[in-house]
Amino acid sequence: MKIVQYPHPALRAKCRPLTALDESVRRTAAEMVDLMHAADGLGLAAPQVALDYQLVVMSIPTGEETPPLEVIAVNPVIVEGSGAFKDREGCLSFPGLYQDIRRFHKVKAQYYGLDGTLHEMICTDLAARLWQHEIDHLQGTLFIDKMTTEALRRSRRYLESYIDEFEEDLRKGKLPPGTAPKM
Ligand code: ZN
Ligand code: ZN
Repeated sequence: MKIVQYPHPALRAKCRPLTALDESVRRTAAEMVDLMHAADGLGLAAPQVALDYQLVVMSIPTGEETPPLEVIAVNPVIVEGSGAFKDREGCLSFPGLYQDIRRFHKVKAQYYGLDGTLHEMICTDLAARLWQHEIDHLQGTLFIDKMTTEALRRSRRYLESYIDEFEEDLRKGKLPPGTAPKM
């Protein structure tokens, strides 16, 4: 398992809900948590490891003195969102790129845990931002889709370098032959 970078087509897939929580899902979730930590990220969604189902993992900061809250969420949805705020956002599939993105300030998220029970979380600020970013991934929506024209313009150099890298990986056989980029 590895993190795929934009413009890998897996990032644009619409993910299907998980209907069975078996050993392979638990193993996948654990691997995703390890990968997220290894990459120093706060969240990772299944399409970022080229899987097409609705699974995200998050490590939500809770303060300087307290450990982050680790969440493994199956079939998560935002059921309510309110307010708005802009803040710097990044994505493990876009290394080095950070831009201000407008998001709900407060959300209510619902999701299933790996034990199949329904959970609900109401949160604000960074945690709310993380939920929105990760759940967007499950619909094939990326943070570049939410950028202003100006932020996109400032990101152009990064986007071009990812596309160059993708084409090079394809040439070197690091991607399955015929894999087409999806912008
Ligand atoms: Zn992301
Ligand atoms: Zn706030």
